[in-house]
Amino acid sequence: MNPDEIGNYIGETLKWSTLAGIGYILSLMALAYPSYSPFQKSINSLKELESVVTEEANKLKLDPKKIRIIEERDACWINSCKEGYELSIEVGSRACTRKTVRHELYHAYRDAASLKKFEGASLLRSTLNFQYLFVAEPRAILYGTFGIKI
Ligand SMILES: [Zn+2]
Repeated sequence: MNPDEIGNYIGETLKWSTLAGIGYILSLMALAYPSYSPFQKSINSLKELESVVTEEANKLKLDPKKIRIIEERDACWINSCKEGYELSIEVGSRACTRKTVRHELYHAYRDAASLKKFEGASLLRSTLNFQYLFVAEPRAILYGTFGIKI
């Protein structure tokens, strides 16, 4: 193999890897879309959100008293804290739906160890974490959107 062939090989590999990565991210976004779509009913009050969190936490056998809701603009994440979990979400936003709550609670259910390990800068907010991108996020999307537990 001469240097030109090696260069072409590396170029082709980078091109196809980039396209595969973009395809993967777009697939995740497409799967998550039903959670954010205009056809989903938004949760419009803190009281309603608390009720949905309690209901969905019970389904996953999580203690709803250990989930503290933080109202935060443009937020949608869950993190561990001393008391249990902090669920941050903007009440009334398009993202504030039952499916989103299910998605975030599934992270608490399945990724609890990682959440504690990365306390402060949690696994869930790190976009370069491959475990998050290829395992935790697709799993939470499947549960949030379709109720499939894997
Ligand atoms: Zn997620």
